[in-house]
Amino acid sequence: MRRYDVVVVGSGHNALVTAAYLARAGRGVVVLEGNDRPGGLVRTEELTVPGFLHDTYSSAHPLFTTGPAYAELGPELTALGLTYRNSRYCVGVSMPGARTAVLSTDPEENVAEAERLAPGDGAALTALLQDFQPHAGPVFGLFAAELASPASARVIHDLTHDDGHYSTFAQQFLRTARDLLEHTFASPVAHGLLAPWALHLGRSPDEVNSSFWTVMVLLAVTSAGMPTPEGGSERLTRALAALTERHGGRVETGRWVERILVRDGRAVGVRTTDGEVVRADRAVVASVNPDQLYLELLAHEDGVVPPLIRRQAADYRYGRGCVQIHLALSAPPRFTDERLARTGQSHLTGGLDALSRSVNEATRGLLPAEPTISIDTPAAADPTRCPPGAAVARLQLLDVPLRLRGDAAGEIDTTDGWTDDVKNAFADRVLELAARHAPNLPGAVLGRHVIAPPDLARFNPNCGPGDPYGGSHELAQSYLLRPLPGRPSHRTVVPNLFMVGAATWPGHGVNGASGYIVAKELTGPEQG
Ligand SMILES: Cc1cc2nc3c(=O)[nH]c(=O)nc-3n(C[C@H](O)[C@H](O)[C@H](O)COP(=O)(O)OP(=O)(O)OC[C@H]3O[C@@H](n4cnc5c(N)ncnc54)[C@H](O)[C@@H]3O)c2cc1C
Repeated sequence: MRRYDVVVVGSGHNALVTAAYLARAGRGVVVLEGNDRPGGLVRTEELTVPGFLHDTYSSAHPLFTTGPAYAELGPELTALGLTYRNSRYCVGVSMPGARTAVLSTDPEENVAEAERLAPGDGAALTALLQDFQPHAGPVFGLFAAELASPASARVIHDLTHDDGHYSTFAQQFLRTARDLLEHTFASPVAHGLLAPWALHLGRSPDEVNSSFWTVMVLLAVTSAGMPTPEGGSERLTRALAALTERHGGRVETGRWVERILVRDGRAVGVRTTDGEVVRADRAVVASVNPDQLYLELLAHEDGVVPPLIRRQAADYRYGRGCVQIHLALSAPPRFTDERLARTGQSHLTGGLDALSRSVNEATRGLLPAEPTISIDTPAAADPTRCPPGAAVARLQLLDVPLRLRGDAAGEIDTTDGWTDDVKNAFADRVLELAARHAPNLPGAVLGRHVIAPPDLARFNPNCGPGDPYGGSHELAQSYLLRPLPGRPSHRTVVPNLFMVGAATWPGHGVNGASGYIVAKELTGPEQG
């Protein structure tokens, strides 16, 4: 029987961050991944035409390059082939009437751009960022810390209290993005530029607490840009797996774990679906959601999962879905504003109200009549992605339902759910809308691959029925209520069994943060 210090279940990038740290610290570690390659939702494939590399799921890594794992592991990852490429501009927007805007990593340029949109918006942008500055240190510190800990409780208390009362930060934290944007900026283009980012953080612009994440994205992208690995997103997870192996760890694929074994209250190993038992002498780290953990992997261990935790795990909720359209293009999209061709990630949108409407349609189970389209064309910054002169595009729709109840435009028959016909009809709608902003787009398409919620569900159990972000990020399932109110953060009901990944603090996104937090816990001084 094989024995390791630590067995890691699943190889999402967070799990690989933990494994890499453990291996570097001299621990015997094995990662068991069910899919054919390590990396989970960080994956690059020739999905359309040979020679065109598409980031199947995630592509942009600003949350990773601004995080602590990259700060520490960056040089070793670079030596193993990870190089980030950045665009001239980080984010942009194109709205009807050729109203556009972009942001970059140059503060002065951003103030000038905001001022161009509306007199006074430049100063408003400066004030917004300056007002947050005193909180930046503690807030970013929390992103790298166990939230459910006494030390974090003190930081949270200090952030949210001032002079014996709740602080301005506490109030700002709870605002909606709409409220923040409408009170800060006069320009509707500024609203359209920033509001869609709430969706990338699993929120919507009319949701309580969405202003906080809008400001977080603004800070992250205007400091880091919109970096993506040369050669494709998967270079990150390949480098993490290589780092783990270089230090003696193992990363195995095609190994689904069906059971975590518990003896005398401690995790002692796992059993895979092919019947192998792999022993863990110190700990098991599970890169899975609480529903899989408590209702499947631990379900056979008598008396281990208390009834309350089982109930909460059964109540773990998934959010909206995602459609991602990959295009191989004979030429890059030509936007009315040429700067958008040199922008990391842009939104093609009717603006804040249009976004509000499409999110509401998705929440009600409807295909949105006019979705907001997130578009990136990574070959502009990284020519290795496709043949010279050509382009790849990722069109991402986050205002789509998981389960279909109809079509807001009344055109697509959704009776049988997310069928290929529905996927393709919706993709046609998206391309038609996108062509209003980049008229050459439809004529340049050489190949197309559409991903819808059922495809996500099939690929990764952590997407549940097709949620790209591993479980709803509504306030009632965030922060100290995530993954479960009864077991917040990375600790589970078994003392040496830890969780990492999108279901845990600080949530989804290629940030590596939960992997980092658990790695520090497992390699800390008290762990020997
Ligand atoms: C379409 C899409 C686009 C996105 N775009 C971006 C983006 O541009 N930027 C960004 O920051 N984020 C993006 N995200 C979100 C981001 O990709 C994810 O939040 C992040 O990659 C999740 O990482 P993770 O560590 O939680 O593990 P995951 O990526 O969820 O991986 C978990 C792994 O564990 C494996 N596994 C699960 N159960 C078992 C088991 N029992 N046995 C063995 N293996 C198991 C799974 O097969 C999987 O490989 C996107 C997500 C999607 C779906």
